[in-house]
Amino acid sequence: LVSLTGVNKWFGENHVLIDINAEILPGEVVVVIGPSGSGKSTFCRTINRLETIDSGEIRIDGELLPEEGADLARLRSEVGMVFQSFNLFSHKTVLENVVLAQIKVRKISREAATKRAMDLLKQVGVEAHAKKMPSQLSGGQQQRVAIARSLAMDPKLILLDEPTSALDPEMINEVLDVMVQLAKNGMTMVVVTHEMGFARRAADRIIFMADGAIVEESTPEEFFTNPKTDRAKQFLSKIL
Ligand code: ATP
Ligand code: MG
Repeated sequence: LVSLTGVNKWFGENHVLIDINAEILPGEVVVVIGPSGSGKSTFCRTINRLETIDSGEIRIDGELLPEEGADLARLRSEVGMVFQSFNLFSHKTVLENVVLAQIKVRKISREAATKRAMDLLKQVGVEAHAKKMPSQLSGGQQQRVAIARSLAMDPKLILLDEPTSALDPEMINEVLDVMVQLAKNGMTMVVVTHEMGFARRAADRIIFMADGAIVEESTPEEFFTNPKTDRAKQFLSKIL
């Protein structure tokens, strides 16, 4: 569904993605882990061209991700993105947050968009808060709204960059549960997270990044019980 071939990116002198080759298959849940600054966010952001790349190519469903233009807008709308900081429209209601892009980007009628939004809010367990403003919701609830909003576009895959890092501990599980449910429903997901319980439970594959490169790629069992590289062993010894 997504393929990156020989992708390199620099920020000035800083070589932040080094010859990245990766393939994300339909229905797969790929968890990206690694130390701070290893390039995990940049990796995600290149997949929907929030960042440009300096060499290599990225394909979505076989189609080359262009630098700009209508094709980029279309492909980008097929890749959902959920950030650490929710990024909801603060002056719009919860419902409106999930309705708007459907009308603007997908040209769906307000009626149909509202119905779909209510279904999705129900799916993530926040339908009772539809009429409220985002600031009236807890962090966990806001993040679930952000997930519903992203699902409303019927994306081919969803990128989630540390979706629970900004949350208080008691709210982390309510968001992880929604993500596990999505995974079970067959959604293709790339998740950057430090939640190793989630990684073990939901990931089909772990990508371990360090210093801008993919250092190790394996199943969760393999990665957590028998990491192949010293870099991964070192990382795991610090976080487990
Ligand atoms: P963290 O776990 O802290 O979120 P990360 O693995 O997501 O880290 P990135 O945010 O992808 O790492 O950053 C990779 C490298 O690129 C870092 O050295 C960072 O300082 C640098 N970098 C990221 N964004 C920019 C930017 N907009 N301009 C310049 N350098 C950047
Ligand atoms: Mg990051």
